[in-house]
Amino acid sequence: MDVINCHCSKCRRFHGHVCAYTATDRENLVLVQSETLKWFHSTTDETPNVHRGFCSRCGSSLFWDPRGKPRISIAAGALDSPSGLETRGHVWVSQKGDYYSISDELVQHDERFARADT
Ligand SMILES: [Zn+2]
Repeated sequence: MDVINCHCSKCRRFHGHVCAYTATDRENLVLVQSETLKWFHSTTDETPNVHRGFCSRCGSSLFWDPRGKPRISIAAGALDSPSGLETRGHVWVSQKGDYYSISDELVQHDERFARADT
């Protein structure tokens, strides 16, 4: 699976900057430990049913979970190396912060990738 960088205002606030997400089919996600996993659900978020997972012990951002959809996004920075992943592009560039520029040659989308299952 590939990685996309999300520049939306929600991700930038939750992660402190752009978030790099990979994703997997929900049934393939196995949590070996989840005692400190907590979920944040914003009722003001324009994406209903999205819950953001984080570690209540260290504060790490971990998941973007659109409940009811077949796939769940995983913060790539939380994975052990080597991940085997490669960053493929940028989404929600229309909401990019004004304090940085995108200097790579990867594809940029003003909003999200047009995928029916994400
Ligand atoms: Zn985002």
